Amino acid sequence: MKVTEYFEKANGQTLISFEVLPPLKGGSIKSIFDTLDPLMEFKPPFIDVTYHREEFLYKKRTSGYYEKTSIRKRPGTVGICAAIMHRYGVDAVPHLICGGFTLEDTENALIDLNFLNINNVLALRGDARKFEGRFIPEAGGHHYAIDLVKQIEDMNAGKYLDANIENGAQMDFCIGIAGYPEKHFEAPNMDFDLQHTKAKIDAGADYIVTQMFFDNKKYFEYVKQCRAIGINVPIVPGLKPITKLYQLNSIPRIFHIDLPEDLVKALQSAKNAEGRQRVGIEWCIEQSRELKASGVPCLHYYTMGDSDTIRQIVEAVY
Ligand code: FAD
Repeated sequence: MKVTEYFEKANGQTLISFEVLPPLKGGSIKSIFDTLDPLMEFKPPFIDVTYHREEFLYKKRTSGYYEKTSIRKRPGTVGICAAIMHRYGVDAVPHLICGGFTLEDTENALIDLNFLNINNVLALRGDARKFEGRFIPEAGGHHYAIDLVKQIEDMNAGKYLDANIENGAQMDFCIGIAGYPEKHFEAPNMDFDLQHTKAKIDAGADYIVTQMFFDNKKYFEYVKQCRAIGINVPIVPGLKPITKLYQLNSIPRIFHIDLPEDLVKALQSAKNAEGRQRVGIEWCIEQSRELKASGVPCLHYYTMGDSDTIRQIVEAVY
């Protein structure tokens, strides 16, 4: 079933969903199941699976030449989605990115997903590679997520890259996109970012999942701004508990968001790792409760492999 159909059927009830990361190269599907098994009793109707572009490292050899090595490849988003659907009988939402994909690669990925009866996709641009500084698409690939949304919409209309294909199967993908309550870091201002988000909706996207945030006011304000410019699709808040001291630097650096002063102080004054985990859990419980009370369509938790923490939060909220 489509993600938006779950929202409609829920009739105003807040659903929950989880996001998992494919394991690193050499890992196995077991790590995904170990994360999800303890969370499935909360009956998420769908699970998101992220996609990660290959990164390269240049290692200097004794000859003086540099050797290009592929690192951090996380294989198998499509396969993991199929495995999740088979094991748990829920829908899986693969993330599809522009980075590293030609138009043909994207078309083939969509054909594979359609074969597997996966009809939900989160369409994203992806980030710049670490050594590139700015996002560079694959030769002939998409520059922005909106171009990917348009290609998926074309496939939904039975339009393939090869115009000679006759009676090409029409696909029926429900398309999610990313939204940024604290603005996407590359956008010159909030209005610019919102207008480009609206363009993705106008191009056919069906719902928005937000970047994580730790101050609900930012989410509520974002929804207000979206509605004011005619974005009327469901806006799903993305949530992540912060439980470790190093995250006080890494989360703002990686995700370009602010952390509220009270949260920072509470984490800094916790006595030990257990205390910090408690602070993060309590903060996320409070956020979740307020969002749920406001009637959000779904609470979407970024698990990052930490099912114990996520479980304690969801248990307290539902
Ligand atoms: P876009 O919508 O293309 O926007 C990128 C920037 O360009 C924005 O600043 C926007 O304002 C601007 N822009 C958009 N269109 C135009 C235009 N036509 N002209 C000029 N400027 C424009 N990354 C991964 O690699 N894998 C994942 O699985 C993944 N999952 C994610 C899930 C969620 C819920 C979120 C919020 C992010 C996720 N990301 C993932 C990160 C995402 O890929 C990055 O944030 C990326 O930098 C932007 O992606 P986007 O889809 O928002 O891009």
